[in-house]
Amino acid sequence: MDQAVLVKKPEEILKKFFGYSEFRGDQKQIIQSILTKKDTIVLMPTGGGKSVCYQVPAMVFGGLTLVISPLISLMKDQVDALNANGISAAFLNSSQSQSEQRFISSQIQSGKIKLLYIAPERLYRGDYPLIDFLKTVNLSLVAIDEAHCVSQWGHDFRPEYLKIGELRKLFPQIPFIALTATADKLTRKDIADKLGLKTPQWFISSFDRSNITYRVTAKRDAMGKLLEFLDFHKKDSGVIYCLSRKNVEETASELQVRGMSALPYHAGLPREEREKNQELFIKDEVKIMVATIAFGMGIDKSNVRFVVHMNMPQNIEGYYQETGRAGRDGLPSDALLFYSGQDAITLGRMLDQGENQEFTHVMQDKLEKMKSFCQTKVCRRKFLLNYFGENHAGDCGNCDICFQKGNRQDMTIPSQMLLSTVARLGENFGIGYVILVLRGSKSAKVQEAHQSLSVYGIGKDRPESFWKDLGDKLLQEDYLAEAGAQFPTLKLTEFAWQKLKAKEKILLPMEESLSEVSSKPSTHHEELLDELKALRYSIAQKSGVPPYVVFADNSLLEMATYLPVDEASFLTISGVGQVKAQSYGDDFLKVVGEYVKKNNLTPHRKVQTQRAKPVRSSQSEALTLKLFNEGKNIYQIAEERGMTFNTVEEHLVNMVKKKEVDAEKFLSKDDILNIRLAYRRQGTHFLKPLKEQFGERYSYFQLKVALAEER
Ligand code: ADP
Ligand code: ZN
Repeated sequence: MDQAVLVKKPEEILKKFFGYSEFRGDQKQIIQSILTKKDTIVLMPTGGGKSVCYQVPAMVFGGLTLVISPLISLMKDQVDALNANGISAAFLNSSQSQSEQRFISSQIQSGKIKLLYIAPERLYRGDYPLIDFLKTVNLSLVAIDEAHCVSQWGHDFRPEYLKIGELRKLFPQIPFIALTATADKLTRKDIADKLGLKTPQWFISSFDRSNITYRVTAKRDAMGKLLEFLDFHKKDSGVIYCLSRKNVEETASELQVRGMSALPYHAGLPREEREKNQELFIKDEVKIMVATIAFGMGIDKSNVRFVVHMNMPQNIEGYYQETGRAGRDGLPSDALLFYSGQDAITLGRMLDQGENQEFTHVMQDKLEKMKSFCQTKVCRRKFLLNYFGENHAGDCGNCDICFQKGNRQDMTIPSQMLLSTVARLGENFGIGYVILVLRGSKSAKVQEAHQSLSVYGIGKDRPESFWKDLGDKLLQEDYLAEAGAQFPTLKLTEFAWQKLKAKEKILLPMEESLSEVSSKPSTHHEELLDELKALRYSIAQKSGVPPYVVFADNSLLEMATYLPVDEASFLTISGVGQVKAQSYGDDFLKVVGEYVKKNNLTPHRKVQTQRAKPVRSSQSEALTLKLFNEGKNIYQIAEERGMTFNTVEEHLVNMVKKKEVDAEKFLSKDDILNIRLAYRRQGTHFLKPLKEQFGERYSYFQLKVALAEER
């Protein structure tokens, strides 16, 4: 080990430059492995904290750290983020002028730059291949980001990555670190082999993204469901993925028409427009990006709160990577996928056109797994982790399947109706036709022979949407199976036959509303948070960097929770290092100070190394209820507690649910009955159709209160 290693301690660097008081997960061991000059491979999920694993060693070593990354668009943000932390970093790419590149080269040679970011093609291509230059500098470490790009089994194969093996041979004396967030078994093997790493140390973290809530829902009325979901995420940033450019355009304009802040992104748009839209999204100036999967590779935005898939992705790797773009900052985030059997068939057809048989075969297999994921009735997280070869002990309690458990309803009679119709039709038809027969449709589509079946019309009392929902549930619960290559037809499973014969009850899970998505921590001062975000935004604009480069959402959330009013307490906030405290401390402390004074608050000092833990939500709800019982209205409570009206309403609905307060405090008996009846008649579990039916007569809050015990 050289002298420099001993002078600077990794922990001190972490605190001073990054503002974090302790290493997370395997970070410490990974850094130790590099400092002892071993080749190292890191598999860690998005948001796990991979960058620190090579950025801290870069500050310990005396020479230059070279970072190879496929994403030119990301380099600038990464370099900006490092500079904002007081670390000198630069990138070299073709967008820069000759003189700019020469200047950076001279800075490197004089040892002024600690980290240099490049794309792999820059090593050997162009008039001045970098490889020759590297031989003349004091190179300490090479970091290979997105290392899965070296494998053709992955979904982002980059042939230039194969050249990195040569680089490894040229610099036998320095350590290489390869990092990725995606790696199935084939890819893992490729990373070690193709990069030519020397008996590497492996660090495989859990791939669990515990802050992401996974949901899959039937695609019917996708727009209605999407709007309900977005209504919950009003203030948040998110990505909506669509399969085709056309869908992207349509969805984006539907949202725009409704006054939402959304823009499209796909490879068919002119480059300037695409780049502009992306930029606006990154800078929080536009909330929603509607995109094809072309979007996201180059996005490091840490406060993406939701990712929606309007269509099923082709494989679980892609799905996991795309949903993984949500919640890099560790705060609760949502992933929602709309599933339809038709989408699965379309994707299958696209694959069949492939020429390489072996490849097509692997891809078909992956598609099948993706489909199983959508149809599974086990905990989604368990399923996903299992796919990546990891075991999750017990259910997660944070996915739609887990939410539905214990929320089952007796659906024996309608299920028997639907199942017998499928059987009477010879198991030759899809759900659409089955419903036509069930509801006794006069449509010309219904064959004459089917009009005289005993099941014809037995389900006409219930709306089409009810039967579709029920069909989905029966599929999900393995009573029905999909068959048919051209279009999906339904068959009864052995399990269904048994249940029918034994005349057993059929209990099915109820779907929760999409607008009741994960509850957020509610101990911070919402109004202050808004002010801090506004300040961050104006600083970011002035310095020409994305807001999250100034501070991550989590840092602002901590400020709005612990209310730091002096530099010492400011430095205890996660993500506040020395340089950021100096650059931004005054501005942020001033905003917090004024807020504290105006509201007569007592700042509570954050206990070092302890993560911000929200007060248990039930305690917070009880406080809301106490104020309510004292005769305060929702607006007064929101004001007093520094919360949004929505949060206060959410608390009250939960208290009704727990029977701590009577629904009749908010609505008359007749109104409650009225709403409940309409709800049952509609037979869907979503509030939107109800709201539409009643118009302004009841607010969403009143609907939720009336249905608190039913839903
Ligand atoms: P990845 O590259 O694995 O997706 P990043 O390196 O971008 O993840 O890190 C994700 C977030 O976690 C960043 O905001 C980063 O600053 C933060 N982070 C990293 N290490 C720590 C740590 N030890 N303590 C607190 N936050 C950390
Ligand atoms: Zn679960």
